Amino acid sequence: MAKKQQIKCSFCGRPADMSEVIVPSALNDSSYICAECIDQIHDMLKDYRVDNKGKKNEDDIDLSSLPKPKDINDFLNNYVIGQDDAKKYLAVAVYNHYKRLYQSKEDDVDIEKSNIIIVGPTGTGKTLLAKTIARYLNVPFTIVDATVLTEAGYVGEDIESLLTRLLQVADYNVEQAEKGIVFIDEIDKIARKGDNPSITRDVSGEGVQQGLLKLLEGSIVNVPPQGGRKHPEQKMIQVNTKNILFICGGAFDGIERKIAQRLNTHVVGYSSSGSRQNIQRDNFLKYVSPQDLKSFGLIPEIIGRLPILTHLNPLERDDLRRILTEPNNAIIKQYQKLFAMDNVELSFTDDALDLIVDKAIEHKLGARGLRSIVETIMIDAMYEVPSSKIKTFTVDKDYALKKLIDANFETIAQQNN
Ligand code: ADP
Repeated sequence: MAKKQQIKCSFCGRPADMSEVIVPSALNDSSYICAECIDQIHDMLKDYRVDNKGKKNEDDIDLSSLPKPKDINDFLNNYVIGQDDAKKYLAVAVYNHYKRLYQSKEDDVDIEKSNIIIVGPTGTGKTLLAKTIARYLNVPFTIVDATVLTEAGYVGEDIESLLTRLLQVADYNVEQAEKGIVFIDEIDKIARKGDNPSITRDVSGEGVQQGLLKLLEGSIVNVPPQGGRKHPEQKMIQVNTKNILFICGGAFDGIERKIAQRLNTHVVGYSSSGSRQNIQRDNFLKYVSPQDLKSFGLIPEIIGRLPILTHLNPLERDDLRRILTEPNNAIIKQYQKLFAMDNVELSFTDDALDLIVDKAIEHKLGARGLRSIVETIMIDAMYEVPSSKIKTFTVDKDYALKKLIDANFETIAQQNN
């Protein structure tokens, strides 16, 4: 919520100080909505929903009112730094997903589901992208970890339990859950251990992939409402996965080697040495193809059900620096907000921010490490400042360095590496 000075509601023009709260737009810094307008809209929506209950048909939805891929991309830009390729793919996939949901039932051309697979190093924004998309769409969203899955009858979770969480976040509203998004993290962990089908049983690999297949392609699945196998008496809930969007993510450690091998064969086999120079050697993921996923151990049927393949780039120094300060809920903004609640204006000098990024790179902590570094630097100030009378607090490089040394940051970071 914004500071109440010279800010007006963009709907009714009411000045911020005449409203209980005023909420800024997620898209720009100049649009706001006041509490009174929110109340009014809320009432209107309630009436609308009562009037239309039972009448409303999905086919009536006006496609022109839906967010366009560029709108979705703009929204993602507020939260996720870089990763432009993945954003574009996601934005288009989500837009097409909407089109599927609202396509006329009599239509002969059935738009196929556009499940997505994102390949990228850990900590580069796969989960963040999926979460941000779900926030935008306002549909039930859940993150599940593929590592807990095993084939039915073995220790671990059954595939169907992936949908239990989705049902739970949809408050067991099956219709809502059936339009939700499931982010399956660490999909690479259910790859079979090689390109060849195994002779022995591969409980957490190919078997799970076979199980997953029916979820991805769209079928009616019996979901245990409380998950797991601890409640054998529970009555199953039937969920149709036809319209559930699955976004899979994985680091696929070592896939670069497979991509490099493939590119090399192609270059030697089919093209001139000129095109070899065009290949960017520092980021092979850019060239990832379904064939590489197969070499890594995903079965072709699964790859076929994840038609949209995109990648995330490793985060460079510049990206980390931007992640600290730019996203809507950037780490530095969060600390500034915490201090502002005690009426203290918190600022960081540029060289202090550079130092934080340097430490994250030096200790290979990535974007996730930025928060722990800032936390280490800020802990004393967060302890002292609320009981003091100061109104401003500046973190400069010397202060940040001293706090990291005091907290034995280097030793701890090295041990964790
Ligand atoms: P993973 O790729 O392993 O799913 P996450 O999306 O969970 O990584 O990223 C971990 C954290 O790092 C996020 O919560 C976010 O704070 C930060 N982060 C990672 N990548 C980005 C990015 N591209 N833009 C902004 N923040 C990011």
